[in-house]
Amino acid sequence: MDCIFCKIANGEIPSTKVYEDDKMLAFRDLDPQAPVHILMIPKEHIASADDLTEENAQIVAHIFTVAKKIAAAEGLTNGYRIVNNCGEDGGQTVKHLHFHLLGGRSMAWPPG
Ligand code: C5P
Repeated sequence: MDCIFCKIANGEIPSTKVYEDDKMLAFRDLDPQAPVHILMIPKEHIASADDLTEENAQIVAHIFTVAKKIAAAEGLTNGYRIVNNCGEDGGQTVKHLHFHLLGGRSMAWPPG
């Protein structure tokens, strides 16, 4: 499958990893939108949040559990934001489920 995040997950494309286990990977975004901008992805190819099911959705709980550990390790003691862009109107550009972990500055609301 020609998926850039699958290639990052299997090491075909290099990335700056901050966390890895058998189910997920977290790496620094190439185009950071905040002082800390990390992408958290399942190793399994799931195209988007819209493709989550009762069978595969446990990965989301796992990712969020790891997210707070990454945030702590990155020193984000004053809070952070986790973002998922889903589909065309959601602004999703890479069709492999991923969560942005953003921090190190105050975030605005609503997003653009
Ligand atoms: O949510 P969205 O699909 O737009 O996010 C994709 C993210 O993946 C972008 O923030 C982009 O900078 C990042 N990216 C990356 N490394 C790549 C390709 C995309 O960090 N090789």
